[in-house]
Amino acid sequence: MNFLSQLTGCFALPCAENPTVAMVEAAYQHHGLDWRYINCEVGPDKLADAVLGARAMGWQGFNCSLPNKVEVIQYLDGLGESAKIIGAVNCAVRRDDQLIGENTDGKGFLESLKEKVDPAGKSLVMFGAGGAARAIGVETALAGLTKITVVNRSVDRGQELATLLSEKTLAHVEFVEWNGEYSIPEGTDIVVNSTSIGLFPDVEARLALNMDSVTANMLVADVIPNPPRTILVREAEQKGCAVIDGLGMLVNQGVIGIKYWTGIDVDPSVMRSKLEEIFAG
Ligand code: NDP
Repeated sequence: MNFLSQLTGCFALPCAENPTVAMVEAAYQHHGLDWRYINCEVGPDKLADAVLGARAMGWQGFNCSLPNKVEVIQYLDGLGESAKIIGAVNCAVRRDDQLIGENTDGKGFLESLKEKVDPAGKSLVMFGAGGAARAIGVETALAGLTKITVVNRSVDRGQELATLLSEKTLAHVEFVEWNGEYSIPEGTDIVVNSTSIGLFPDVEARLALNMDSVTANMLVADVIPNPPRTILVREAEQKGCAVIDGLGMLVNQGVIGIKYWTGIDVDPSVMRSKLEEIFAG
């Protein structure tokens, strides 16, 4: 039997109620896989010991969440291409005797995006400049997006992400300070909310976005997994836009992680159903 683990920060949720655990275990059960995915609460002070423990016990890998995504890098043996650029790891994978850090958040988003549109040659407006935005920006730029506009409230963080994307990818990148209602420029192909606006319990919070500037030819994506049908998703649908909700990214990062660890392609619909069941309450 193989154990994978999620080295989380300080989640107060018991294991059975952790959506990621439930989602991954649902896939294992559905495919009859003799694997386990368990949740351990590990703070930065015990991270070194936890990674040593994972190595000692022969774990095939683990996920890690905030606040461990950057701290964990020093305890790993190497990084995948996008994790190196993003500077954060949410998934460690044992390859031979090494633990390699990957970032599957952006890859999960990219997978959802590719189900609807080929990002090559497209332009993206992205709200936010935190960890999710970083992962999405890097991964979509590596996939061939030609233009990225980073729209963020805090100038320092927004500018830092725009500089990183300009320096490390081929995309043309622009930063816009978000200090009022923003109008999406004509010709934009993809709009992404990668801020935490709309996350439960603040479900009525809205982006300062002029919805009149959102047109049916744009694809609109939201990273918020709970609730999946955010105000942005609903309003974009009413405009006739193709939409991607936050469950797509969450499910696909899980599918990619399981593939890294076990080599097996699992059915994403089983994982999505489990999350819908949990988030429906
Ligand atoms: P961070 O804390 O790193 O970044 C948050 C971002 O949201 C910042 O850009 C911040 O702007 C912006 N923001 C927050 N509140 C406001 C506000 N009221 N007005 C304007 N901007 C705001 O968080 P993460 O990037 O790690 O996560 C962001 C969201 O992505 C979370 O809700 C998380 O649940 C979701 N997520 C979803 C995943 C999925 O699989 N679906 C995976 C990973 C994350 P500023 O810089 O100005 O503070």
